[in-house]
Amino acid sequence: MSNAAASHANSAIPLDALSQGLLDLLQKHDPATAQIMAREADRQATTLELIASENHVSTAVMHAVGSWMTNKYAEGYPGKRYYGGCAHHDEIENLARDRAKQLFGCNFANVQPHSGANANIAAFMAIMDPGDTVLSLPIKSGGHLSHGLKPNFSGTFYKIAEYGLDPKTELLDYDAIERAAVESKPKVIICGYSAYSRVIDFARFRAIADKVGALLMADIAHIAGLVATGVHPSPFPHAHVVTTTTHKTLRGPRGGLILTNDQDIATKIDRKVFPGSQGGPLMHVIAGKAVAFGEALKPEFTTYSKQVVANAKALAAAMQSHGYRLCTGGTDNHVMLVDLRPRDASLTGADAEKWLEDAGIIVNKNGIPNDPRPPLQTSGLRLGTPALTTRGLREGEMKQVAAWLDRVMISKGDVAVSGAVREEIRAFCAKFPLPH
Ligand SMILES: *Cc1c(COP(=O)(O)O)cnc(C)c1O
Repeated sequence: MSNAAASHANSAIPLDALSQGLLDLLQKHDPATAQIMAREADRQATTLELIASENHVSTAVMHAVGSWMTNKYAEGYPGKRYYGGCAHHDEIENLARDRAKQLFGCNFANVQPHSGANANIAAFMAIMDPGDTVLSLPIKSGGHLSHGLKPNFSGTFYKIAEYGLDPKTELLDYDAIERAAVESKPKVIICGYSAYSRVIDFARFRAIADKVGALLMADIAHIAGLVATGVHPSPFPHAHVVTTTTHKTLRGPRGGLILTNDQDIATKIDRKVFPGSQGGPLMHVIAGKAVAFGEALKPEFTTYSKQVVANAKALAAAMQSHGYRLCTGGTDNHVMLVDLRPRDASLTGADAEKWLEDAGIIVNKNGIPNDPRPPLQTSGLRLGTPALTTRGLREGEMKQVAAWLDRVMISKGDVAVSGAVREEIRAFCAKFPLPH
């Protein structure tokens, strides 16, 4: 294989200089890896990313993560490490923590969790004992597996009580949640979801928690970027603990974050992240978090977050105009759940996901509330606009995206249609390059 194989030659969109330099280096050092990574760079550049939990980070974030900051063991916290040589790791972790606190308007941040699920493990350990009861929304209604799914740590070590959505409106039914709380007397109530397209009333959740003497945990993994920019209301001052990922709407590196205003809870959280559930922090990822939080503090990121929501509303309206049903009737945030059946009763999420990928549109199948089909089939798709908005698409382009989605789905996987759409999307993507 020649160098050209790794030089991203089949893409109309060039890589940034550092990324191209990396591929050139890898091509000499490890061609097998170089060629796989070049194909993935090309895939990302030439397809439309509609997975609601994904985004395209800036090259600054990306290269901070791919740096010498990976070489250090820094178990412990700034000023209290178990290894020498940590001076600059203390600096970077303090910078990341200070920016996170500023971004979310709170007093304490732990930036070490390796992921959102790891943040939840540490948060659970900090505010509960094994066997205590958690009240949460199950995954089948839009919750996350780390909120109590049986095979997960949460469902294994804690008692799980569930609340649901209103079966008619598919909205959170706060009166029903209050009744479930009174009945189950949980130690902790969790709000914050993976597939809920409407605003969360954190104040109401806190009132329910107070009524039953529970702590309120808000997992804002999906909406963190919207919260940081005021586009979605903040869980502060209502939640006792806030967990999040850093890689969804917040557009940072893959990782987790825990926030609180309570000094006592903060101390416990630090101990439950390390040594409670993790060893050495990923200092290269913490460097990337510092960069991403710095970006999120800039006014451009507020403009971006507003556009994410405007694009989601435009995409939702366009899907409805093609005859699809939107769960809850639409969206207030970056995500929407599309019920495919009103357009064509035989459509499944699994088929649609596969056909759309062939056409260059990346989505995930998702159960809709009370979905009669099993989780690996589903009657729905979850669509999100964070990644497309990063590329610079706006409301007008959302109509085009919806038209492609519909054309591929109603063709039922016709290869002529998906092939034609694939070429249109490749040309379209060249006009909306990834961040440089
Ligand atoms: C994505 C998500 C997580 C977990 O994130 P990972 O980094 O994949 O572990 C946790 N909670 C919610 C609500 C999520 O949507």
